[in-house]
Amino acid sequence: MDIQLYDNWERSLRTFKPIHTDWVGLYCCGPTVYDYAHIGNLRTYLFEDILRRALELNGYNVRHVVNITDVGHLVSDADDGEDKMEKGARRTGQSAWEIAEKYTVAFKEDIARLHILAPKIWCKATDHIAEQIDFISIIEEKGYTYLTSDGVYFDTSKQDDYGYLARLNREGLEAGKRIEIGEKKNPTDFALWKLSPADSQRQMEWDSPWGRGFPGWHIECSAMSAKYLEPWFDIHCGGEDHIAIHHSNEIAQNQACHGTRLANFWMHGYFLQIDAGKMSKSSGDFLRLQTLIDDGIDPLAYRWLCLSAHYRSQLNFSWESLKASQTGLNRLRETYFGLARGGVINEEFAQRFKTEINLDLNLPKAIAVMWEMLKSAIPESDKRATLDYFDGMLGLNLQSWEPKKAEIPEHIAALVAQRQVARQNKLWAESDRLRDEIKSAGFEVEDTPSGMVIKAN
Ligand code: AMP
Ligand code: ZN
Repeated sequence: MDIQLYDNWERSLRTFKPIHTDWVGLYCCGPTVYDYAHIGNLRTYLFEDILRRALELNGYNVRHVVNITDVGHLVSDADDGEDKMEKGARRTGQSAWEIAEKYTVAFKEDIARLHILAPKIWCKATDHIAEQIDFISIIEEKGYTYLTSDGVYFDTSKQDDYGYLARLNREGLEAGKRIEIGEKKNPTDFALWKLSPADSQRQMEWDSPWGRGFPGWHIECSAMSAKYLEPWFDIHCGGEDHIAIHHSNEIAQNQACHGTRLANFWMHGYFLQIDAGKMSKSSGDFLRLQTLIDDGIDPLAYRWLCLSAHYRSQLNFSWESLKASQTGLNRLRETYFGLARGGVINEEFAQRFKTEINLDLNLPKAIAVMWEMLKSAIPESDKRATLDYFDGMLGLNLQSWEPKKAEIPEHIAALVAQRQVARQNKLWAESDRLRDEIKSAGFEVEDTPSGMVIKAN
């Protein structure tokens, strides 16, 4: 079965064909670790997790790489202002190295709590300074760079199709060019290497052919994707904000160095909005996964909320929708728990589910197929087996869930035990009478294929 994916380079759906027969390269821009991830960031990683699971569902062996940006991402996209890491260090009173470690660990915990599959390769910008310097040196030799008093810059006027991914209107930019560009030759030029200020020492800096300093933010992804995948690989992902600057610049670098646009497919997750505005780390006003947990929400309810919206539409966050999602997830878990074991996957529903997934990851429609399957007349045990198959995509790990055991007082436990004996002896009237007695004491017994379940009313 073909997979159709929306490619932002072509701005259309395209049939996915892997470059290699035995593996698929997937590179996803990772977190800038100067603070915790907010739930908006996590929506993007959830979309990428769905993409990876969809590829695996279709039998591909996915080489999934995520980078950790621990240096060089400046506060302003115009390549000035402070490094976010150094700013984070000032805010917390810890060193830039310490906060990088702290927020990397926190990020890995968050994605594990959301059942996002860990990438096969993690790579840190600060572990790949030599690769980045090599990359810049090649671009320099090929004549794409120039020096200013504060660093090495990429000259975007050397490429006719610079900004094609974003369908950038360069003439318009030039015409409206009253913005301060300092020593840059063109508004879209960007830093490859920034020099440390002469009068102060940075916490993170390295020697280079151009002087002591640090890499620009975009070069790490070009250098590390070439190292862990190839300079031409299958799919590159990130959030929609990356289209105009970060990904356009990665492409410019690769075109200059390797003559490729990095990836055959460019896919972007659309933003989580809050009160119709974007949620951003720099505003300081953001919701962490831990905030939801502190409010009694299961992290997987947030996963379920994100799955219910297509990745190419913005999702407006509200506590009401999150709580509704928690209720929906609970209902699904209880339904699953109540289904008998030993069935087989229903091929017709499995095909319909996969067809929706393979049409640009249409999870909302795939989930509708799931509910339809659960309401259908197929055997209960087949429903369970089919749901297990779907769960490979949904990542809810339904199998490991069980209802919370209510605190059962002793006299209720005694009635339950009596009822069990009555049922074993097929004394149905006695069993029903005991059920009523238990009910009037505020507890509910349910007979499921997995055994008797007792809940507080
Ligand atoms: P950062 O840690 O800021 O470099 O961002 C990590 C990832 O989150 C990137 O892929 C961003 O594009 C993405 N991102 C940032 N803000 C949001 C948001 N509000 N909704 C969804 N994704 C986001
Ligand atoms: Zn990147």
